[in-house]
Amino acid sequence: MQINADLHVHSNYSKDSMITPKELVFYAKKRSLNAVAVTDHNQIEGSLKIAKESDFLVIPGMEVSSLDGHIVALNLGELIPRGLTAQETVDRIHKAGGIAIAVHPYAWLKGSLGHHVEEAKFDAIETLNASAFPFGLNKRKATAAALKLKLPQVAGTDAHFGPTIGYGYTALDCEPNVEAIAKAIVNGKCQPFGQQVPLTLTLQRQYSLIRRRI
Ligand SMILES: [Zn+2]
Ligand SMILES: [Zn+2]
Repeated sequence: MQINADLHVHSNYSKDSMITPKELVFYAKKRSLNAVAVTDHNQIEGSLKIAKESDFLVIPGMEVSSLDGHIVALNLGELIPRGLTAQETVDRIHKAGGIAIAVHPYAWLKGSLGHHVEEAKFDAIETLNASAFPFGLNKRKATAAALKLKLPQVAGTDAHFGPTIGYGYTALDCEPNVEAIAKAIVNGKCQPFGQQVPLTLTLQRQYSLIRRRI
């Protein structure tokens, strides 16, 4: 069957995200998604907790700040430390039974991998990141890298604000469970879809962040 999953969402366990577990499920259902990956920065407890307690298919994972740039690990049960090289990080993810995705490799201001994407054995490349800037440039260069390296392509929103969930999503040909989704990605039974998060939503998020700081 076809599973539509946003593979890159930050919950409010990430300091820079405002998405509560309840909101996450609300918007995922509203956008007709079948699954969501919770990928908080350098921590996994929130993701594991939401996956366990939610009545929705949540893929546990995290976004690791490697020395060389951001890497998303999915189907993971343990914390991967930050600050290692890309290849060390990918090895750790594989040892832990997870899969490693090079996310927003060419986006600006996001801690992106850039040319390091070629230095590690990633399972897939996030060729569409709905929050990436510049959106088109990141997508073009990431797609070219995926084709060159013959790697599967996935998409996610990199959502930090509820209403943006689902702007980037991956269509997977598999059964609706975490193991099957991870396997489908590794085997390339996946396709990236989506569009850039509209500017109005980006501005709404900035406004809420500023209000929170005052
Ligand atoms: Zn990132
Ligand atoms: Zn992210």
